[in-house]
Amino acid sequence: MSDRYLDRVRNVRDTLNSVGHGFCLQKWRHETLYLHMGDNHSCYHPRPQRIPLDEITENPSALHNTKWKKQQRKIMLEGGRPEECYYCWNVENLPGEHFSDRMFHNASTWIDAKAETEMVRNLPWDQDYNPYFLEVSFGNGCNFKCGYCCPQASSLWEQEIREHGNYDISYNQYGIDYLKNTKVYRDDEQNPYVDAFWKWWPDLKKDLRVLRLTGGEAMINPNTMKLMKMLEEGDDTQHLELNLNSNMGVANSRVIRMAESVRNLLDKKKIKDFKLYTSLEAWGPQAEYMRRGLNQDLWLQNVETYLEMVPDAAISIMCTYNILCVASFRPFLEKILELRKKWNTNPWQNRIMFDTPYLKEPPHWMINLLPKEEFGKYIDSDLLFIQDNLITDGLVHGFQEQEYEKMKRVRNYFYQGGARISDELILNGRKDFYKFFTEYDNRSVGLGLLELFPQYKDFYYMCKELNNG
Ligand code: SF4
Ligand code: SF4
Repeated sequence: MSDRYLDRVRNVRDTLNSVGHGFCLQKWRHETLYLHMGDNHSCYHPRPQRIPLDEITENPSALHNTKWKKQQRKIMLEGGRPEECYYCWNVENLPGEHFSDRMFHNASTWIDAKAETEMVRNLPWDQDYNPYFLEVSFGNGCNFKCGYCCPQASSLWEQEIREHGNYDISYNQYGIDYLKNTKVYRDDEQNPYVDAFWKWWPDLKKDLRVLRLTGGEAMINPNTMKLMKMLEEGDDTQHLELNLNSNMGVANSRVIRMAESVRNLLDKKKIKDFKLYTSLEAWGPQAEYMRRGLNQDLWLQNVETYLEMVPDAAISIMCTYNILCVASFRPFLEKILELRKKWNTNPWQNRIMFDTPYLKEPPHWMINLLPKEEFGKYIDSDLLFIQDNLITDGLVHGFQEQEYEKMKRVRNYFYQGGARISDELILNGRKDFYKFFTEYDNRSVGLGLLELFPQYKDFYYMCKELNNG
């Protein structure tokens, strides 16, 4: 982090603290909506809260301005710290100077912390606000069931658990017990939360600066194209940056339609910018094993269709760096270089971006379970590979400095873990690794774990022994 950026974060911190040491503008201006369940939260740390249906009947902006959230805002305005934000308080309570997400997030480019603080502190606590940054999932309809995902996010996962029952593991995110108490709306069903969103939209769009569409798979949800069509026909969203998350595993004809719409939106200056995010963390059969539903050839065809049809557009590939990546990441890195050679024809423009956040949950997919002596060599060598291929030719054909730094962070996490990585977590994670992947292979078609990842054989049998012993 540069000194200049840290100074900015410090300034933002001081501005926020002038109201109270728990004051955070995310509660006012940032929102994530899971419309298939009617849940929302203002950032990922507090647990999502259910939106009461009676509140949105009177006021569709209660999708964001719930009575619950207004109470949390009131606590903040009165100098308190809402319980649900303990993630930030844990960081801020440490001795010395520590920066929490309360400070980082409010230093984002889409928000002017000073001006917003002045406004919010002078208006009544129960005032309604529109978010500036909104991430919205219209449904969990998904054509994939990635191994580390869950039924709440993927309809295919939900279907698998209904058909085959739950996995017998200690850390279980695959259960569907929540369905007993929660109505989950299917993509093709009348959904009062989606209805409220469309009622709110004419007012909401005036203030929105970033709108991120996510899923399930956003491109198969009918509301995605509806929204893009409305943006094409409208005339008042020139300030909006539109983001789309897609697994890029949909039919190529859908990608063509989406790319045409994006080109229109940008050519006619209906929106300020568009960003496409996708996910991948290996290449070929190994990637298809981690992300069940993925067809690597189709993914590549879709990505190249988009790059071809939308001039100057870039794609961001998010890698959920997990236990199986450790010994299988090199072909992915090589593919990045190949794509960059093909698509980065301007020295100033990188059209193939990637990021390597490491997976923290569920534990049986965590890199920390692996014996360091046996598997460290793979990460060490991948880091060296990135270093050996750093940009030198002025063209963006190699890797960038920050990509090297991110990979170094993954390596540090692999070797050092952190306070959270206890012996108990590792032991249970290893037992779960054996049970989960044995059952995962039983339920999946095609090659199994040890055929695709022979480097994990000894580790798998070690986990088996731990489980049986
Ligand atoms: S958890 Fe932190 S960043 Fe999130 S809303 Fe609370 S204070 Fe803000
Ligand atoms: S594509 Fe996304 S929503 Fe679908 S299963 Fe994979 S991670 Fe989950």
